[in-house]
Amino acid sequence: MPHKHQLEPGRPFTLADLPTQGKQFFPDRDAAEAEFKALRRELIELQTCLYAENKQKLLIVFQAMDAGGKDGTIRRVFRGVNPQGVRVHSFKVPSKIELAHDYLWRIHKVVPAKGMIGVFNRSHYEDVLVVRVHDIVPESVWRPRYEQINQFEKLLTDTGTAVLKFFLHISPEEQLERFQDRLDEPSKNWKFSLEDLEKRKFWDDYMAAYEEALQQCTTPWAPWHVIPADQKWYRNLTITRTIVHTLKQMNPQYPEPEGDLSGIVID
Ligand code: ATP
Ligand code: MG
Repeated sequence: MPHKHQLEPGRPFTLADLPTQGKQFFPDRDAAEAEFKALRRELIELQTCLYAENKQKLLIVFQAMDAGGKDGTIRRVFRGVNPQGVRVHSFKVPSKIELAHDYLWRIHKVVPAKGMIGVFNRSHYEDVLVVRVHDIVPESVWRPRYEQINQFEKLLTDTGTAVLKFFLHISPEEQLERFQDRLDEPSKNWKFSLEDLEKRKFWDDYMAAYEEALQQCTTPWAPWHVIPADQKWYRNLTITRTIVHTLKQMNPQYPEPEGDLSGIVID
């Protein structure tokens, strides 16, 4: 069931109807953690092979509300993976130079090269989310972006990049608990931001923006996965399952050795 939380192109949905609680899908946390660890070993082996093959590319996009768990997911899921074959990019408020270009410029520059896994912590979707909610550009500018994004992702998949997109779906109650935790726990204080509290006031607007973005940009070549993310252990498990499943489908192969190695003696 690797694609249990995958959206179907053209099929309407309401985010409020999609679960944020994962435990209903996998009640046994210990078993989930055991499976997660086993899957992580598989991920490490598949990534080694993808890197050695040096042909295909995998792009993994993470979007979420603040405290939605993007950082934690990346830290936990990719633990032990050869860092040489993975590049994580975090997209913040665009710089002056980035703003002087089209919004996909900074994105396209860092999509994964052959053999690589690219991980996006936020992405081009910010340009139809935060930008829409806070009226940074008018609707006449952001609305055509859905189709532009679909075409951009089509270009990527047509040229050998598998694209996986995960929305980490948390409840507003869970977000509040995580904010509180960031306040209470000294080692997490640095993660607390007043700006996040401000953005929380726009929760419903963000949900509406996410709903439309996920709907408009679920294509046969790059569908969204809406991950129940209130329980971190379920989130980690189901995301790793989907990544491993995708890598297995990509079926990377170690390259053939250069010539016949059987007669070579190393002394
Ligand atoms: P953390 O979870 O650690 O807080 P973060 O991804 O929220 O990580 P921040 O530096 O706190 O990182 O915030 C980045 C901010 O940049 C977010 O508020 C995001 O909405 C904003 N941002 C990203 N892309 C764009 C964009 N294209 N236009 C405007 N704002 C953007
Ligand atoms: Mg933040």
